[in-house]
Amino acid sequence: MIQNYINGVLVPALSGRYLDIYEPATGKVFTQAPDSDAPDVALAVAAAKAAFPSWSQTSQQERHDLLSDIAVRITQQLPELAAAESRDNGKPLWLAEKMDIPRAASNFDFFANAITQFASETHETTGNALNFTLRQPIGVVGCISPWNLPLYLFTWKIAPALAAGNCVIAKPSEITPLTAFMLGEICIAAGLPPGVLNIVHGLGHTVGAAMSAHPDIKAISFTGSTRTGAEIAKVAAPMFKKLSLELGGKNPNIIFADCNYEKMLATTLRSSFSNQGQICLCGSRIFVERPLYERFKHDFVAKTIQLRVSHPTDPQAKIAAVVSKPHFDKILSYIALAEAEGGTILCGGKAAQVSGDAYQDGWYIEPTIIEGLAYDCRTNQEEIFGPVVSIMPFDTEEEVLHMANSTEYGLAATLWTENLSRTHRFTKALETGIIWVNTWLNRDLRTPFGGVKHSGVGREGGFEALRFFTEAKNVCIEYTT
Ligand code: NAD
Repeated sequence: MIQNYINGVLVPALSGRYLDIYEPATGKVFTQAPDSDAPDVALAVAAAKAAFPSWSQTSQQERHDLLSDIAVRITQQLPELAAAESRDNGKPLWLAEKMDIPRAASNFDFFANAITQFASETHETTGNALNFTLRQPIGVVGCISPWNLPLYLFTWKIAPALAAGNCVIAKPSEITPLTAFMLGEICIAAGLPPGVLNIVHGLGHTVGAAMSAHPDIKAISFTGSTRTGAEIAKVAAPMFKKLSLELGGKNPNIIFADCNYEKMLATTLRSSFSNQGQICLCGSRIFVERPLYERFKHDFVAKTIQLRVSHPTDPQAKIAAVVSKPHFDKILSYIALAEAEGGTILCGGKAAQVSGDAYQDGWYIEPTIIEGLAYDCRTNQEEIFGPVVSIMPFDTEEEVLHMANSTEYGLAATLWTENLSRTHRFTKALETGIIWVNTWLNRDLRTPFGGVKHSGVGREGGFEALRFFTEAKNVCIEYTT
């Protein structure tokens, strides 16, 4: 049974209530997590406030050592953590082993080192003054994360917050709480002082809302949907909390005829369907220059049909279960909408049957390619967040730029071309926070990460994250000459 991690110990919700947690591969309940509420958040905040004076005074080296130790322990427990992540989320086990858990360890390792390199500015003012910037931890901060990359995104927020000297209240998604619970156990084993990190499980409109509204949580780092980001901002902004919001996307994948074709095709298969299409960076709108369109369509459909849809522990599974029944229904409803909007389903388009008696009630969807839709229809404007992509031909740079920039989102874009001048024109003109050219999901943790428009506010990653989790205080000292 999953427990909260508050003030260094594992405890149930004060109410004693629990939420059922489902295994997407089977559609069955497999564990329960605390159904916490505002009083649990208040308890966690009290513990964090009590821990802050001493934690914020630890040296960078001490924090480095503790966070590095947590990274080592995550790596040591990789098999158990990956199995838990795959069971909780429905993703292929090999993917959790290769991507999610190694990245969670890297997040701790990276910020353990980054804090030892973090520096602030000095400005010498002509005449007789020197300004320097103090970068101080904020105090108690909140981290709220989604279900698609559970431990990966949870630790991406917690690690920089702790490294910068803050105490943290963290809430994982109620849909995938298991590895967050295991992280609490790891922190206890590593000797993280009580109250420095508190993990409170529960629903968004109870625990999450209580975090947004708590006056002693001074900053919120949130990753999730645009709608929830707006709800959090509505509560937190009038309280003048610092906000980092990493929200939804509807990312364009723009393919020019001069691209490296084989590399583009293999990468586009990944950028369309990895993690069942449930990565905020997946390219769900694929624009193909007309001379290449028919060839691409033929090859892309042929390769997509070969992707094996199977249960998460099948080592050959390229696509496993989507995360929940409501999400399964939502994706299928968007496929129905695409047909109603005049789209043609080139492959997929329905729930997938996988072999094995245990998996007959699981939530599996065939990888789906749609063509023939207008760029501005709902299917091409709204986030589906599943194994569903739309392909569209284009004739000119102006046309594809207009279509690519036409959504309210602006998270990531992928561009395939060997033309250097075009690359520069597009990287300037695309309205996104992240652009990959001739690659996808090639991540360097030092780079600024985040979106524009309705995809978010603020940047994570590297020193950007450490800047977010600190307050800049300018000190101006005038001296006599
Ligand atoms: P969600 O917004 O439903 O939930 C995210 C988290 O917010 C959960 O922990 C949830 O409990 C909590 N929450 C819900 N209502 C809340 C409220 N009123 N107050 C405070 N917290 C609340 O998102 P999801 O369905 O878990 O995740 C999918 C979404 O996340 C997609 O839109 C995807 O694009 C986005 N996402 C974005 C990024 C990025 O880096 N930009 C990364 C991953 C996922």
